[in-house]
Formats: sequence, C-alpha cells, structure tokens
Amino acid sequence: MKRKNKLVVAFAATLVSGISVLALAAGGGATVADPGAMEGKHFDPKGKMPSKYTIELQQAQRKSLPFEDKRDFEEASKGFIAAPPYKSIMAEAGNVAWDMGIYEFLLQGKDFDSINPSLQRQAILNMAYGLYEVVPGKIYQVRGFDLANISFIKGDTGWIVFDPLTAKETAKAALDFINEKLGARPVVAVVYSHSHADHCGGVRGVVDEADVRSGKVPVIAPAGFMEHAVSENVYAGNAMNRRMFFQYGVLLPRSPFGHVDQSIGKNTAAGNLGLIQPTCYIEKDFETLTIDGVTMEFQNTPGTEAPAEMNTWFPQFKAFWAAENITGTIHNIYTLRPRARCAGLVEACQHRSIPLRDRGRVHVCRP
Ligand SMILES: [Zn+2]
Repeated sequence: MKRKNKLVVAFAATLVSGISVLALAAGGGATVADPGAMEGKHFDPKGKMPSKYTIELQQAQRKSLPFEDKRDFEEASKGFIAAPPYKSIMAEAGNVAWDMGIYEFLLQGKDFDSINPSLQRQAILNMAYGLYEVVPGKIYQVRGFDLANISFIKGDTGWIVFDPLTAKETAKAALDFINEKLGARPVVAVVYSHSHADHCGGVRGVVDEADVRSGKVPVIAPAGFMEHAVSENVYAGNAMNRRMFFQYGVLLPRSPFGHVDQSIGKNTAAGNLGLIQPTCYIEKDFETLTIDGVTMEFQNTPGTEAPAEMNTWFPQFKAFWAAENITGTIHNIYTLRPRARCAGLVEACQHRSIPLRDRGRVHVCRP
C-alpha cells in the first residue's frame, strides 16, 4: 500500500508540474484503480466498514429523500446516440488518462453504506458515457470523457467546439468519436466558456495551433480569460491544487470507500494539458457573432462560477448554453460562488424577456 501511495503521489506531482501553464480549478488526479471495488471490499487492510450509526443515518436518508423520482435519469439519457467500445483513453506519456471502467462498481444496483445516498445517486448519473444529441441535427455533446462535457455545434461546413476538456487526448478522442458517428467535419471555431482548465486544457486535441495563429480557426473567450486563467491557475496554482486534493479526494483509489465522483463529473483526465491563447474576446456585456452559419449571442458573466465566464444564446435553435453557471448540481459547495452567478442569470433572462422559473433539474434563481 505504501508503494502504491508513493506512485499515486508521483503521478499527482507529474500532473501538477504538467500544469505549469494551467492548474485545475475543478479537480484532477490520476486514475487509481481498486481491484476489490466491485466486491465492496475496502482498499486498505486497516480500512473500517461503516458503523451501525452511519448505516442507520444512510438508511434514514434513503427513506427521507425522493429517490423514486427518476426524472434526472431520464433526462441524462435523453438523446443518447452511442458509446465507444473502449472505457479508457491513454495519455501520450503512456499513463491512463481516463478510465470510466474503474467506476463500474456504481452500476451494480447496490446501495453502499459507505457512500452518502445522494452522492451515490449523482455518481451514477455521471456514468453517462458517449455521444448525445441535445438539439436535433444541431447541437451534440460527448459526455463522460473528462470532468466537463465537450459540445459540438453543427455549422454549415464544420464543428464549433465548446469547451475542449482538460486534456488533448480526451478532447481528441471525443472529436474522433463524433466524426466517426456523424461524419467527419473540420473544426471551424473553438469557444472557451470560462477560465477553468477542464474547459480549455485539451484544445490541442481539436485544433492545430498554426490554424489558430493564421486566423483560420478563431478561438473565442470571455473578457479577462487569460488574466484569470493565469492568476487562478498559475499564481494560485499550488494552493488550488492542494485544495483540490482535499476537496475531491482525487488521490484515493476509485472505490465505495474512496473516490466516487466529483459531482459535475467523475474526475479530471490526467493527460496532456495546455492552452492556446484566444484570438477573439467578448468584451461587451452582450455580443453577437455568426460563424459558419451559426449565430451566437454571448453574455459576459464575470465573477460568477469562474472570474471570466460567459453564457451563449443560439437564437436559431432557441438554445441557451449557460457554461457552468447552471448545472444540475452544486459542484462548488466548498468554494461558494452563487451570488454573482444568480445575478448573471437574472440579467440573461431579463435581456431576452424569458420568465425565471424552476425547470426540472436546472438550477434557476427566482427573481
Ligand atoms: Zn468551472
């Protein structure tokens, strides 16, 4: 176990030093498998099983919350097209960058008394893996390839990619998978919704930097993106990483007694992380661009889920992309940032005369 721990720490150190350009605001860590996870065995010989008091509390919670309400599961599976035949994605450095297979202990239909019932439910929802259609024929997502989802907007000739994940390898795998399933199309633009690394670090997996520099493929980001990506992820990088290790337990083996989930996704890919500087900044509160026949109305929402973040409205598809300002979970519970986020949503809704209301699993602030 000691040796394994050392390996884990070495892996983490590699990850951290590999993030000299960007650290991870949202999570991170190598994939640490636990061979006993499926049988519900503890990964540590000295590990304790839950006490009768814990078991009583977990059971009381299962009875008190509406776990019979399965709407979230129906919504999470809506639009599913296909899952890839593989569960893991290798990093160029030779390690496993991503592995959905090591979380399969969650799919046995068991209730684990070592996992908070609400966390277990969320962890199962986050097992969504593959290609999904969000707006028929127009907007697609590849889910379960990294912490964030990568979105693909179908333009006249190519893809506009929103949020190219943390690692080059997982972003490339997602692009290859959608091209394989829906026909190969070039990437005509990239949008970073915000300055967290799990939404931009894999950009080199979807675009060639030379094409960005030549102006062939624009990279669009909210005002202040570079400044905040650097201040949050480089200047404060070490502190952010230490916090992240505690916040998400990423150095623990994947197990009912270890790392289970990170609320917005399973974990962060441990691959090749980098950044290409944006070529187009959204500077005004609201700005409209049309690229490859797709009209996008951007709304800057500074100081919300990230210091530089923006929402996007697609008037042709009547679709609203709220970056991480709206999610089906409260993933930043350790680092609360909801106030400005709510203000941004109120402004977005008022701008388009959209009434504010509760919409199922979507978190919406009442006026
Ligand atoms: Zn974020």
